Amino acid sequence: ATASLLAEFSGTGATADGHLVPLLANVGGGKDAEAAAKLGAEGVGLFRTEFCFLERDTEPSVEEQAAAYKSVFDAFPGKKVVLRTLDAGADKPLPFLTDSTEPNPALGVRGYRTDFTTPGVLDRQLEAIALAEKQSEADVWVMAPMISTAEEAAHFASMCAGAGIRNPGVMVEVPSAALTAESILREVNFASLGTNDLTQYAMAADRQLGPLANLNTPWQPAVLRLVGLTVEGSRAEGSGKPVGVCGEAAADPALAVVLTGLGVNTLSMTARSIAAVAAVLKTVTLSEAQQLAKLALSAPSATEARAWVREKLPVLEELG
Ligand code: PEP
Ligand code: MG
Repeated sequence: ATASLLAEFSGTGATADGHLVPLLANVGGGKDAEAAAKLGAEGVGLFRTEFCFLERDTEPSVEEQAAAYKSVFDAFPGKKVVLRTLDAGADKPLPFLTDSTEPNPALGVRGYRTDFTTPGVLDRQLEAIALAEKQSEADVWVMAPMISTAEEAAHFASMCAGAGIRNPGVMVEVPSAALTAESILREVNFASLGTNDLTQYAMAADRQLGPLANLNTPWQPAVLRLVGLTVEGSRAEGSGKPVGVCGEAAADPALAVVLTGLGVNTLSMTARSIAAVAAVLKTVTLSEAQQLAKLALSAPSATEARAWVREKLPVLEELG
């Protein structure tokens, strides 16, 4: 049964009643992107550009960067590719951007914040993205990691406009961004929830620490509320700007149903999870997904949220 369920995946994510939820891939470079395209990804929802340059001591040139970005764009001609600007962090340091002496790296100068201390790097990256976009056929969207305020979102949007990038967005992975999603989305065209960091910061639990794994799950009702608030913020803003999820939460089929029910528009995940997520999503209607989202939000704990939702999705047993 598992094989046939997965084989039926058509390449278009949707609920049983035809509500479309594009299923996109998280990639770190051209090879990943080609593999994701073969697995039926409808596009790229998170291109982690720092993965292209982890070995580098010095900033790559604009031309080198453009070539790396183009290799991903070329795997998805005519499709959406959401590129994230460099996110050097404690878990993936970049020698030319990361200050390794920071006492609290997860709360430090990382993601978009490196523009405060190392101005120019982000401008040159945007220039390289615009150059690669001109040489390719992908539908390129660009988002900044670790945005915390609407002012930062506005500044990033103006940098994108200056570089000729049409579709600026932000990651929502800091709780302050989820809480102020309405004013942030006034400044940019889309948001993508990074549930890995959003969970780490909402729960004050380092995502790299095994003993904190029970806190560090996106099934935490507090995290689900922040997802719901982000969607509500986008609806209040009123222009229908899309809100996606690109954290590991999207790869958990039961949680993917809950996220859809919370009103998330797209799900981006490791490509090998796409078939399972598609298979489960198409067993529920949008209104059933909304009911499951309510159920998860009402649970007193992450363990119960997960158990209650899974109990209502018998197809999960067939998937194993
Ligand atoms: C996230 O934080 O959820 C995310 C998608 O980005 P990363 O895992 O690269 O921090
Ligand atoms: Mg992150």
